[in-house]
Amino acid sequence: MSGWRRSLPSLIMVLTSTLGWPQISSTGNDSDEFSSVKELRADDVLNEIKNQLTCSWADETVDSYKSGDGSTTVKGIATTFLATQAVLEQAADLGLNMVITHEPTFYNHRDETTFFEGDPVYEVKRSFLEKHNMVLLRFHDHWHRTRPDGIHLGMVRRLGWKEYQVDPGEMVFKMPPQRLHDLTAALQKDFDANNMRVVGDPDARVSMVGMAVGAPGSKAQIRMLRRDDVQVLITGETPEWETVEYVRDAQAQGKRKYLILMGHAHSEEAGMEYCAEWLQTFIKDVPVQFIPAGNPLWTPN
Ligand SMILES: [Zn+2]
Repeated sequence: MSGWRRSLPSLIMVLTSTLGWPQISSTGNDSDEFSSVKELRADDVLNEIKNQLTCSWADETVDSYKSGDGSTTVKGIATTFLATQAVLEQAADLGLNMVITHEPTFYNHRDETTFFEGDPVYEVKRSFLEKHNMVLLRFHDHWHRTRPDGIHLGMVRRLGWKEYQVDPGEMVFKMPPQRLHDLTAALQKDFDANNMRVVGDPDARVSMVGMAVGAPGSKAQIRMLRRDDVQVLITGETPEWETVEYVRDAQAQGKRKYLILMGHAHSEEAGMEYCAEWLQTFIKDVPVQFIPAGNPLWTPN
């Protein structure tokens, strides 16, 4: 929360000028700090993000402003897995007018909006963003491409699986042998979820776990399942007729391959919590805060 500390001088400035108090005498570092307080624009934040990444910024990317623009003065930053209506309202209440979201805002990967023009849900969200002068930046591709992958780092930390990670560059874990049921139940409890889904015998003993966060597509998921050192693939989501059926066939052929669908949000959200901490290491002049979006799905179990 170091951003708060740095914003204190500007708060004092506002108070002193409002109340007509005499200015603090211009001696030493205080006056230097006062005079250096300048407006932070969204583009300044984006440029600093680009400087801090280990990858170069791609021309083809979904990481762009989805509302507002780079000249907007930033009062505070919220990071989130997904800029839901509720997350946006919370950010506005907290005075955080720049929202950095991992996943799309408008219900499709590229945030294409033509289809949604006149849609009652889209229009309310769009006008909320405009009314509150919010600038909304998607931060997906580059947060995965930087090394270490920011989502992976946040998730390994959240899971507490660092000691099981075989290679720090890969999401493959050698865990104590356990029942597939127990591995899933522990995850479900840890993430306070009741909608994790599994393909495979609950009593199967497993220890080699691979993780493919989010919705990386069935090819990425199957590529991981092909590895000899992966018995269980934990992933966010998949079309049910792709990876799910691949695993069902593998089991019918006697192969010891299992699948846990953990939910997209559960499999990535901690990476955006870590993103707020990462931003705080170089954005010092405004508050930066993580706002959880959570997972809206439930089952009657
Ligand atoms: Zn992701």
